[in-house]
Amino acid sequence: MPEPILLTPGPLTTTRRTKEAMLQDWGSWDQDFNALTAGVCARLTDIVGGADSHVCVPLQGSGTFAVEAALGTLVPVDGKVLVPNNGAYCQRVVRILNTLGRSCVVLPFGEDEPADPVRIARALADDPTITHVAQVHCETGTGILNPLPAIAEAVASQGRSLIVDAMSTFGLIPIDAARMPFDAVIAASGKCLEGVPGMGFVIARRVALEEAAGRCHSLALDLHDQWRYMQRTGQWRFTPPTHVLAALHEALDQYREEGGPPARLGRYARNCQALVAGMRALGLRTFLEDRFQAPVIVTFHAPTDPAYCFEELYARVKARGFILYPGKLTRVDTFRVGCIGAIDTRQIHAAVAAVGEALADMGVRHPANASGEAHP
Ligand SMILES: *Cc1c(COP(=O)(O)O)cnc(C)c1O
Repeated sequence: MPEPILLTPGPLTTTRRTKEAMLQDWGSWDQDFNALTAGVCARLTDIVGGADSHVCVPLQGSGTFAVEAALGTLVPVDGKVLVPNNGAYCQRVVRILNTLGRSCVVLPFGEDEPADPVRIARALADDPTITHVAQVHCETGTGILNPLPAIAEAVASQGRSLIVDAMSTFGLIPIDAARMPFDAVIAASGKCLEGVPGMGFVIARRVALEEAAGRCHSLALDLHDQWRYMQRTGQWRFTPPTHVLAALHEALDQYREEGGPPARLGRYARNCQALVAGMRALGLRTFLEDRFQAPVIVTFHAPTDPAYCFEELYARVKARGFILYPGKLTRVDTFRVGCIGAIDTRQIHAAVAAVGEALADMGVRHPANASGEAHP
């Protein structure tokens, strides 16, 4: 069975070179591996221009582990977090805060509407007891891009701290520590950097992290302890994801060779445009307005033709070599297609053709949602 192309927001399609970097074993105590960790952390910090003010703390696990670690370490027990909510990953932040017993205020937005910096500033002005804002940059549940620079400005103007879940934008959409104040930016190995999954990391403001000593509810998720131990010994506290780190190192080399953030953004933007144009030509409609769409993952309305069923579309498209992603919306029937990973418009065109063939084979005749005509 040939390897499928993953059109999902992580794990995603990686290059052969990145996969081959995992063919070597590493000792966790070994000098060479410690140097690999330090080098990767320095490069991750550089991506957001944080070398003077921020530190990178890597953490074993998927991205959510790093989100939970950042919230549990950086938000004090008597802190209060505002969560602008326009989707599933924002709701996950709320769930983490509830689990940790941290107060939280939800500022609701529509799932097709970006978080509004003006409403965020007003909510902060109205409640001086709010200490932090936890903002998801691209809400991967739909693919909507939240206006992070303006939100960061609103949060800073109200004198509060900002924690950013930049999982699906890190390395893609610029974040600049020198111009955008934040206490933490959280991301992971297996998204836009095109590594394999298994490692999260937090770019934390050094002073904020120093102040967090002994605060975390958890030993394994204590970012301050992880950072201090790594500073002292050069090693991870517990068994490191050695192969994941080696793959990320190799992926970062390719990221640089490709041309860094502008090149990656250009490639993903072309993927996204080709995907949206191709699917519209099939009669499918996007959930978001184009101006709010991040070039990360696109949500499409499910066809209303009774012959349509996501599981069958999935199976038929998989048989043609592509892996789709189910929708994550509760009220509207949708499915999602990612445009990130080691793919370009050739794979996107082939994937669109596969979707078109699959829908035709299923007998789906009116792909457009009943509430609107198909875009030409
Ligand atoms: C992928 C992602 C996460 C982390 O999800 P995991 O399944 O734990 O890797 C968190 N937030 C956003 C916005 C994401 O896209």
